Amino acid sequence: MALPIVAIIGRPNVGKSTIVNRLAETKDAIVHDQPGITRDRTYRNAYWQDREFQIVDTGGLIFDDETEFLPLIREQAMAALAEASVAIFVVDGQQGITGGDEAIAQWLRQQSVPTFLAVNKCESLTEGLSQAAMFWELGLGEPYPISGIHGNGTGELLDDLITRLPPIEEIPEINEIKVAIVGRPNVGKSSLLNAFIGQNRAIVSPISGTTRDAIDTVVERNGKTYRLIDTAGIRKKKNVEYGAEFFGINRAFKAIRRAEVVLFVIDAIDGVTEQDQKLANRIIEDGRACVIVVNKWDAVEKDSYTIYTYEQEVRSRLYFVDWAEMIFVSALTGKRVEKIIDLIDNAANEYERRVTTSVINEVLEEAISWNSPPTNRQGRQGKIYYGTQVTSKPPTIALFVNDPKRFPDNYRRYIQSQFRQHLGFKGTPIRLLWRGKKAREVEQNTVNRATRV
Ligand code: GDP
Ligand code: GDP
Repeated sequence: MALPIVAIIGRPNVGKSTIVNRLAETKDAIVHDQPGITRDRTYRNAYWQDREFQIVDTGGLIFDDETEFLPLIREQAMAALAEASVAIFVVDGQQGITGGDEAIAQWLRQQSVPTFLAVNKCESLTEGLSQAAMFWELGLGEPYPISGIHGNGTGELLDDLITRLPPIEEIPEINEIKVAIVGRPNVGKSSLLNAFIGQNRAIVSPISGTTRDAIDTVVERNGKTYRLIDTAGIRKKKNVEYGAEFFGINRAFKAIRRAEVVLFVIDAIDGVTEQDQKLANRIIEDGRACVIVVNKWDAVEKDSYTIYTYEQEVRSRLYFVDWAEMIFVSALTGKRVEKIIDLIDNAANEYERRVTTSVINEVLEEAISWNSPPTNRQGRQGKIYYGTQVTSKPPTIALFVNDPKRFPDNYRRYIQSQFRQHLGFKGTPIRLLWRGKKAREVEQNTVNRATRV
């Protein structure tokens, strides 16, 4: 269920993060980058009375000459506001109205999001009210005197704020494809991300994920939104903020878990290593779609056969992900980086595709007629009654059989490969659930299904 989003807006140093810390459940704020070019938007959960919401700190809005938004900052603020149900505009009560406040207020007045004007640093009850009163001038309605540090005034603000939050059922789920970029250190994950962003004018903003160990970048492309979960981006700050253990395989595992499609990056010079195989295994265990990206292709000596032989070699070392598409790119030169998006789209589509029960059973019938289930020593044969796709993401097919123990691994692999061959599902794992069922139940079930149709 999506939570309504409350955007905190204001100049640097007015106390935005202090306020977020006070309102949010947990105190572990994600530390900001320096103001300017790219910065993180941080989402934190908060609640007041019976309403839950997320607070997003947009970072300081800065201006080139005190009155003009820097274009990039404006874009980011727009993006933050676009998804927000309510905005809190924070100003500094001790400093009074600045040109920057006026510029933000003017901009906010043109937006359709309900805005609350929080006059911060009003810890003195007597002075607070008169400090706050000055801000009526901004034309944003009643100023709320508050103190982020001491907490006074925040209750009144929140009381009014939650009345403006939309009912839960009206909040649209954000429709985006979650993509994790994983690979060993130095394979070029950050370079790839940068190459992407460089070529994507419509970047919305780098966003900090809900967990502090992955930085998400949201990009828009052909009307679709991709959340790139980067396991490398944070590295630049690692020695300062986080311990080194943070950057090991566990971060990659977490990113895989949050993703729908995994961009599995391999270094063309090193080829597939043991660590790569571990990562690939995890992708399958977690049932995520996958695109294999062989990076640094520019650095490989090539003749006309190399791509083919190279691909064969990678595939033989990663035979267990033979369903994944592979692309050879160079993050350095940008070559083919754009094409990755198409492969992500394909994989994401297959990942959530559903096939009908009749198609599944056609495949099953055909498969069984070529190669029937084995008979055990007691002369009992495995029997598959029918199959049906029970879920997607990844596509999962339940097979109802007389006794799962009668189906050895090699026969299971055979059925799996038949599904793969006939149903496609390129780019995603297929899961098979072998379920034991009494013949009578199956009949009953079939009748029920037939009457429903
Ligand atoms: P941000 O840049 O808008 O996120 O501002 P910060 O939350 O980092 O706060 C900027 C400065 O204002 C810090 O030195 C805070 O200690 C101070 N500050 C924040 N809230 C209050 C407050 O309610 N009263 C006073 N007096 N100072 C505050
Ligand atoms: P990460 O640790 O996976 O994020 O890797 P980086 O993006 O930091 O890249 C590691 C090193 O590989 C850097 O020195 C990059 O310049 C280099 N690199 C990244 N992509 C390419 C590429 O496509 N070709 C070449 N030749 N070098 C690359």
